[in-house]
Amino acid sequence: MATSAPCSRCGECAIVCPAQLQPQQLLHDLRERQLAAAGEHRLLDCSECGYCDLACASTIPLLAIIRDGKRALEQARARQATALAARARHRARVERLSRCEQAREQQREQIAASAASADAVAAAVARAAARRAARSRGP
Ligand code: SF4
Ligand code: SF4
Repeated sequence: MATSAPCSRCGECAIVCPAQLQPQQLLHDLRERQLAAAGEHRLLDCSECGYCDLACASTIPLLAIIRDGKRALEQARARQATALAARARHRARVERLSRCEQAREQQREQIAASAASADAVAAAVARAAARRAARSRGP
C-alpha cells in the first residue's frame, strides 16, 4: 500500500461524495476514535463507493478507514441495543416480582383477617354455650 500524506483539507473527497458526506471529517473522527461523532456526521450513510479514496491526492485510504469505522459503529450500536434490551428485561422482571410480592402480601393479610374473624366466631360460640350451660343449671 502507498504511503499516505497528511490530510491537506483540500476538500476533493467531499466534492466527489455522492452521499454529500465530508470524508475528511469522518477521517478525523475515526482517527480520534470519536465513533459517536462519526455517526452524527452520517458515517453509516456511506455507500462505500470509493470515490473519495480515488480523489484523495494525499492517497489516504479513506475507503478502508471509513469501512472499518462503519463496522465498528454498527457493532457499538448493536452492543448498545443489546444492553438496552437487557436493562429493559431486568426492569420488567423486577416490576413483575414486586407485583407478585404485593399480591402475596395482600393474600397473607386476607388470610390473617379471616383467621381473626374465625377466632372471634369461635369465641362467641363458646360464650353462647357457656351461657346456655349456666341457664340449664338454673339459678
Ligand atoms: S466511499 Fe463513502 S464517503 Fe467516500 S465518496 Fe463514497 S459514499 Fe462518500
Ligand atoms: S481529498 Fe484527501 S487530503 Fe483532501 S480533504 Fe479529503 S482526505 Fe483530506
